[in-house]
Amino acid sequence: YAKKQGKNRFHLLDQEHYEHLNQKSELELELYRAVERGELGAYYHPQICLETGKVIAIEVLLRWDHPQKGVIGPNLFIPLAEENGLIVPIGEHVIRQACLQMKKWLDEGSPLQFISVNISARQFLQSDVLLTVKEALKESGLPAHFLELEITESVMIEVERTERILHDLKELGVRISLDDFGTGYSSLYYLKRLPIDRLKIDRSFVQDSVNDLSDANIVRAIIAVARSLKLEVIAEGVESKEHLTFLQQYLCDQVQGYFFGEPFPAEQMKEAVDEIEQMLPMYTMNYRQTE
Ligand code: C2E
Ligand code: MG
Ligand code: MG
Ligand code: MG
Repeated sequence: YAKKQGKNRFHLLDQEHYEHLNQKSELELELYRAVERGELGAYYHPQICLETGKVIAIEVLLRWDHPQKGVIGPNLFIPLAEENGLIVPIGEHVIRQACLQMKKWLDEGSPLQFISVNISARQFLQSDVLLTVKEALKESGLPAHFLELEITESVMIEVERTERILHDLKELGVRISLDDFGTGYSSLYYLKRLPIDRLKIDRSFVQDSVNDLSDANIVRAIIAVARSLKLEVIAEGVESKEHLTFLQQYLCDQVQGYFFGEPFPAEQMKEAVDEIEQMLPMYTMNYRQTE
């Protein structure tokens, strides 16, 4: 019986694997078409300063508006795009769009301090990010300090190359943040050696910080490391008032999360920011009291 079950299971897995491959290649073809047809679009997610209660920055998050399947999130297609190299043209497009949009917002009087763009490891290490950024800044007329690139610790697999690229980007005046901090090849040595402006505490630590003491301590430790190295620190994945209170108590600089709303298209910017800034005064009062 066990043998039979085992055999069946094997067969099942095999079938799944086969379908997975099939699906993947279909999705891959669709992704090529999506890039050509402009089905990939930017959504925006605010980053809030806890001391002032103001939205100080905005992160660009890519969405695929699929004609049949609806809106598809980046976790479903970015890894695929990284594998087949499509991430390079997609990433270039995102950087250019972000610079144009930010310039537009600034021209309209927005007080945003910068826009953050996610750069995946493959894009960072295998394409000429520096050139792409230079061109995007020139094309849009956006001063470099209004642009931030979010890289992850996975770029450290080529630490020397990463160091060179980061120094060139810093020389240009672009900001750098280290995304999903704490989940990858974290090393304090890199933090000391690389020109990084900000740490983004990974959402997984933030989410469990209110009921898991280890996660709470990790969050506090990351905030402390950021402080002592004079880096800014932002917590992502803030979903509740409890998360917010915890982060205020430990003097995290900035927060981002669904508690303040989900990512939205560019047109909703003003409305979303107004809403967030109206909900924050009472929280920031808390923040000042603990300081
Ligand atoms: P990320 O850069 O760490 O972005 C944060 C992700 O967490 C986003 O998911 C955001 O919607 C989600 N998030 C933020 N706050 C909360 C919260 O309170 N609760 C929950 N449950 N989720 C929250 P999203 O948009 O699905 O993006 C996933 C990842 O895809 C991003 O993680 C980033 O690594 C990648 N990505 C997104 N856009 C781009 C892009 O333009 N280029 C590249 N290379 N990667 C991108
Ligand atoms: Mg990010
Ligand atoms: Mg992240
Ligand atoms: Mg991520």
